[in-house]
Amino acid sequence: GDKREIELRIMPYVDTQYLILARDVTHIRKLERMRKEFVANVSHELKTPLTVMQGYLELLEEPEGLAPQQQTQALSEVTRQTQRMQAMVEQLLMLSRIESKHQDVPQEPVVLGSTIHNLLSELALVIESEQVHVSAHIDETLTVLGSPERLHAVVHNLLTNAIKYSGEGARIYIEWQAQEGQAHFRIQDTGPGIAPEHLARLTERFYRVAADRNSRSGGTGLGLAIVKHALEAHHSQLHIDSTEGEGSCFSFSLPKINSDCHKSDIQAT
Ligand code: ADP
Repeated sequence: GDKREIELRIMPYVDTQYLILARDVTHIRKLERMRKEFVANVSHELKTPLTVMQGYLELLEEPEGLAPQQQTQALSEVTRQTQRMQAMVEQLLMLSRIESKHQDVPQEPVVLGSTIHNLLSELALVIESEQVHVSAHIDETLTVLGSPERLHAVVHNLLTNAIKYSGEGARIYIEWQAQEGQAHFRIQDTGPGIAPEHLARLTERFYRVAADRNSRSGGTGLGLAIVKHALEAHHSQLHIDSTEGEGSCFSFSLPKINSDCHKSDIQAT
């Protein structure tokens, strides 16, 4: 099992007697370590693109030494790193919004089918350029109660991951259907899959599979942490099923509500 950390305090009691107070601080210490690690990670992740940008900007300070093509290249690299930092800061803000306990999770009717359709049209160009085939089997009337922002983030992150990591020619299958009285979401891809040793850690902040770290995908490792926390806010959880070389399947369930009762609400929004 895990080692426990016990804090001991010795206090004078009466006469020659002392009182020993033992407190289990395992959990507190673990949270402290996680917080420190998180700050260190954020700093590191933000520093990397800054260092790269600084290098290119220094080059551009003396443009005479550079061919026009190299100047363009340096500028586009600066732009790329800016976008990367922007994405990271946005995801960090999203994560902290989702995690903040003070903010109650709204209980609005969400027609996730529409969210999925909108995302698919927003991502049409990316889907085309990555050359993946997406198909979906969606119940348009299936409604759940929850936070539209958080559920949008869940589907957005799972879908962009599937597109990003699956590779050319891969198939992505999305399902949003009633199953055993629950609303069930599933996204399956025929991508590279994930090795068992990574599976358990995927939803940790900044955790990325080593091979994807330096890839052009330019991820932040925050996507699945956001998914996890957003689903936890709905008392649901993410299931990951993956076989290396075959593909991955990410799924979750939410209690469905009778869409007829809420039809007027939905049409009003
Ligand atoms: P990011 O995509 O920003 O790196 P995520 O938290 O969304 O961060 O994902 C963590 C890691 O999980 C990714 O870096 C990638 O290695 C792996 N991963 C996520 N989705 C998939 C997928 N559909 N197929 C294969 N690997 C994946």
